[in-house]
Amino acid sequence: MTTALPMTVPAPGLPARVRIHEVGARDGLQNEQGTVPTEVKAEFIRRLADAGLTTIEATSFVHPRWVPQLADAEQLFPMVRDVPARLPVLVPNDRGLDRALTLGAREVAVFASATESFAKANLNRTVDEALAMFAPVVTRAIEAGLSVRGYLSMCFGDPWEGPVPVEQVVRVSRRLRDMGCDELSLGDTIGVATPGHVQALLTALNDAGIPTDALAVHFHDTYGQALANTLAALQHGVTTVDASAGGLGGCPYAKSATGNLATEDLVWMLHGLGIETGVDLGRLTATSEWLAGRLGRPSPSRTVRALGGAASHKES
Ligand code: MG
Repeated sequence: MTTALPMTVPAPGLPARVRIHEVGARDGLQNEQGTVPTEVKAEFIRRLADAGLTTIEATSFVHPRWVPQLADAEQLFPMVRDVPARLPVLVPNDRGLDRALTLGAREVAVFASATESFAKANLNRTVDEALAMFAPVVTRAIEAGLSVRGYLSMCFGDPWEGPVPVEQVVRVSRRLRDMGCDELSLGDTIGVATPGHVQALLTALNDAGIPTDALAVHFHDTYGQALANTLAALQHGVTTVDASAGGLGGCPYAKSATGNLATEDLVWMLHGLGIETGVDLGRLTATSEWLAGRLGRPSPSRTVRALGGAASHKES
């Protein structure tokens, strides 16, 4: 079967290439109801690399009690260590970093919040207490030669606090940069951002001395805004975009099946704009359909459904 591809019509003012930071195996599976067997996760990560993804977040070394879906991090990581891609892992604290270092992880990520309510709900700490907990983790990771990504949740809106002021996000971002995080991923955790807000935040971060090439965007499609927001970020010069294969992972803080931006939907837009990703859309879609079969529910990605539907029509 040949996969339908978008017609390529470039638009001015956009990057030539985008690096997709694939989060399906971590952020996606962590927010799915069911737990996927370790061998299936390993196969999923291999297939993602085979589809051309170069950065695949593999798992999280958080305490198994908090995220039972990823309790097999110790077994999984050695199974995928040889996969030809960058394989960052989430480390919540010193203990998590120890586990990641022991297994030979080369990249780690910490997970901070821009709002007090989410810091309290997710980490049972104030924003400053959480940052104080991460600081020594980031320092040790850098000393060990690792690169460190800082996730920042609730950058646009918060389910308890409503709209989040740009200055508040800038303050926490500055702290993560000062700690040594080389990349910040700006999360729209409940999917409420719109394109003007995205550009206002990016501009404010630049004004605070954080260069665009240190910024990644992590949009959720809860209100159907993820691609519009991505395009706004690309116009600003952002070249690293987080996405989840097949749209894996619902949104745990909004009553919606739609959470993470689906990698296939992102690739369709990027390739249509003539932006290189290195991703083979057909292989990626096949991978998401395969995993959807294992999860027992269809992918929420519109592109996966459109291409998968086309394939099954052909076969029947
Ligand atoms: Mg997410």
